[in-house]
Amino acid sequence: MDQIKIGRFIAESRKSRNLTQRQLADALSISDKTISKWECGKGLPEASLLIPLCEALNITVNDLLSGEKIFPTDYQKKAEENMMSLVKENEENRKRMMSSIITSMITIIAVCALIVIAAYIELPTIVRIGLIAFSVVVAVAGIAVAAMLDIKAGYFECPHCKELFVPNMKDYTKSYHTFTKRRLTCPKCGKTGMCKHLVVR
Ligand SMILES: [Zn+2]
Repeated sequence: MDQIKIGRFIAESRKSRNLTQRQLADALSISDKTISKWECGKGLPEASLLIPLCEALNITVNDLLSGEKIFPTDYQKKAEENMMSLVKENEENRKRMMSSIITSMITIIAVCALIVIAAYIELPTIVRIGLIAFSVVVAVAGIAVAAMLDIKAGYFECPHCKELFVPNMKDYTKSYHTFTKRRLTCPKCGKTGMCKHLVVR
């Protein structure tokens, strides 16, 4: 799925219908920031918006996901390609989510082991300090890798307006979270709440 190409195609189709980003956003009851994000190739419309968006732009979902007008003779071939790439994208997101959980677990185990060794085993002070410093490095690196994998795996859903969004790294890392939810501020409605992490669009 070529997000840049799709974004350009959304912009072209919108302009050819003489719609501003604001007008298109209003027609879909979403923010114009979301439209601008799609047009810049940062993210794709969520499933529930695909059909209303295509209707507003007078294109088909197959055109949209291909990033161009599809000739009737290519229609089925393109539809199959698009389906396959959606399936693949979901698979990749699931893999990233699993890698993130595994990385977190390995980090926790490694850090605990290092601290236990540093605390309970008879060692020269300098080695103890070295071990503790090393465990801090492992913790920071592990959390960073887990966060990077997790942030790329899917979207967060605003509990108030159901907007799907990807938070930036700064907001993400400092937010309170449980296993499946994270306290974030929605870019659309501006409310802060426990946003559900969705792997599949
Ligand atoms: Zn919201």
